[in-house]
Amino acid sequence: MITPLLPTYSRADIAFERGEGPYLYSTTGERFLDFGGGIAVNVLGYTHPHLVAALTAQAGKLWHTSNLYRVPGQEQLAERLVGATFADTVFFGNSGAEAVECSIKMARKYHAARGEPQCYRLITVEGAFHGRTLATIAAGGQKKYLEGFGPKVEGFDQVPFGDHEALKRAIGPETAGILIEPIQGEGGIRPLGWDYLRELRALCDEHGLLLVLDEIQTGFGRTGKLFAHEWAGITPDIMAIAKGLGGGFPVGACLATERAAAGMTSGTHGSTFGGNPLAMAVGNAVLDIVLAPGFLEHVNRIANYLRQQLSMIADKHRSIIEDVRGEGLMLGLKCKVANTDVVNALRERGLLSVGAGDNIVRLLPPLIIDETQVREAIAIINDACGALAYQPAKDAAK
Ligand SMILES: *Cc1c(COP(=O)(O)O)cnc(C)c1O
Repeated sequence: MITPLLPTYSRADIAFERGEGPYLYSTTGERFLDFGGGIAVNVLGYTHPHLVAALTAQAGKLWHTSNLYRVPGQEQLAERLVGATFADTVFFGNSGAEAVECSIKMARKYHAARGEPQCYRLITVEGAFHGRTLATIAAGGQKKYLEGFGPKVEGFDQVPFGDHEALKRAIGPETAGILIEPIQGEGGIRPLGWDYLRELRALCDEHGLLLVLDEIQTGFGRTGKLFAHEWAGITPDIMAIAKGLGGGFPVGACLATERAAAGMTSGTHGSTFGGNPLAMAVGNAVLDIVLAPGFLEHVNRIANYLRQQLSMIADKHRSIIEDVRGEGLMLGLKCKVANTDVVNALRERGLLSVGAGDNIVRLLPPLIIDETQVREAIAIINDACGALAYQPAKDAAK
């Protein structure tokens, strides 16, 4: 019999009651150190006083007015995002997938408005994840997400990850741009490489294409810069963001240059809830903290410490961890045993992590973690690896 809740997730049998900083407390009273961060969402941990104050203050004033009227919080957040990035303009939605949808529509419209409507195709790479709407599963191109949902939305050409020649060959008279994650998240913490990102920028310029970055997971300080492309010293034309933007409140956004957004005139796109006053209050509060002097320095410092400690653990447990990869606090442990066994072993010991493609265990802690919490996580990972490595021998000794 089907459950009242549509069973599209296979969930761990655990529910949480409250959170504080990087810790979650379950309904059964257990404490967990959360290195999954709600899948890279809770950049400031749980119940951050500044975010709670911003949300509750707004909740007492106004929740929703629609986009038929000006929304001051949207204007303010857009202005601040424009000030902090390459972008000249911002559209707010409610999720990552919507941010990517807007990006796809904008890339197509850009060419249409220039009198080249035949240029509507986007090149994407294998292992990509861009969301679960019909267009974004087509963009992601993963069979497991496409199967059974009818004809794939037209207009996406996928090339193997890291195959530059194939990517060049995929550029044709109908190409609008390249849609890509600077570091694949769901695909298994696979970095494109900053040199490669620079090459893609050059390729787009050469062929008159738009570079569309999906920074939904890599954004908001996750990699130690506000946005990952800053490491490469390039800028995209269009960028989708979400996850960290709301620090746990659902919100997404599509950022663009004036040139790329030229076709998006009045009436071309919309969202009833997008840029809702509650979401904007929280988004502005998250920015207050992420943009504060010293915040990203902290992320880089703590990320280096975590990375160094993880490398030591990986060296010690070579039969369990093959490699540590990623950037900043977006790290992946490439496992030699099933990644789900590692995720479970960590959770049993009070540490939350997230599985990903390529047999990876993702560590996406809140950006506010300190050295004590890194040491706590490392001790748990060490213990879990030991248990996974020696399980058979231990059983035999009994
Ligand atoms: C999470 C994610 C999405 C989808 O975001 P939703 O809010 O789940 O729609 C898209 N792209 C990337 C890179 C993501 O990590």
